[in-house]
Amino acid sequence: METTTTRTTYTVHHVRWLTDSVYVLRFDRGDITFAAGQYVSVGPTGTIDMREYSVYSAPDEPWLEVLVKVVDGGYVSRFLSQLTPGDPLNVDGPFGFFTIDPDWREHTYRFVATGTGISPFHAITRAYPGIDFHLLHGTRRQNERFELEHYDARRVTRCVSREPGGDLHGRVTDALRAEPIDAEARYYLCGNCDMIYEAFDILQDAGVPHANLFAEVYF
Ligand SMILES: Cc1cc2nc3c(=O)[nH]c(=O)nc-3n(C[C@H](O)[C@H](O)[C@H](O)COP(=O)(O)OP(=O)(O)OC[C@H]3O[C@@H](n4cnc5c(N)ncnc54)[C@H](O)[C@@H]3O)c2cc1C
Repeated sequence: METTTTRTTYTVHHVRWLTDSVYVLRFDRGDITFAAGQYVSVGPTGTIDMREYSVYSAPDEPWLEVLVKVVDGGYVSRFLSQLTPGDPLNVDGPFGFFTIDPDWREHTYRFVATGTGISPFHAITRAYPGIDFHLLHGTRRQNERFELEHYDARRVTRCVSREPGGDLHGRVTDALRAEPIDAEARYYLCGNCDMIYEAFDILQDAGVPHANLFAEVYF
């Protein structure tokens, strides 16, 4: 799919808080076209402070959304959280290759996310209705649900690590170790690098070929 953009200043629609530190920022999409799984670079106008955010919304929606966690001491994640409708915003992109091949109907997908790493999978599952997937989503707290009602509940396993709750009390890597690994499936991993390194090791040891492993590292 061809993806393009020509202008850089966009207008904020709103900020939608999902928890006390995670929100969805919606802004107009202008002439940006993208493939589900790609990211954009976003920041205040008139500065060079841009940060990467996976696109949360689907390619056919009339706006762009990103799912952002306010990082302690973070500049852009806090700045974006304070935007109000009509504010201007710098956006570049789309970028990245964390996308699904056109032959997606022939494959089974395993999506593994920590925190806001669920964002590209939100876009992908909306863009490809009927995709054969299972999503492991790991968060620290029970309340970090990030609009899970948008997914088929039978295809989601929630892992909550710091308190009881979810489908599994533990981390996504505990879930990967506990379940049979489908070495034919395509594994997409997104979130913090510690999870991604650990998951890579588990999956490679279980016989998943390198060609079936895809990763988007946030931090
Ligand atoms: C390809 C890509 C896609 C990404 N997509 C998303 C996304 O969809 N949603 C999202 O919330 N983030 C995403 N990120 C992370 C995002 O780009 C920023 O790094 C994050 O929002 C922090 O930016 P900041 O300006 O607030 O913090 P900064 O001012 O850059 O950093 C402040 C402090 O926080 C630390 N820090 C930076 N990033 C993180 C982090 N993610 N977690 C914990 N500590 C951190 C820094 O080391 C520093 O000490 C993505 C990153 C990449 C590379």
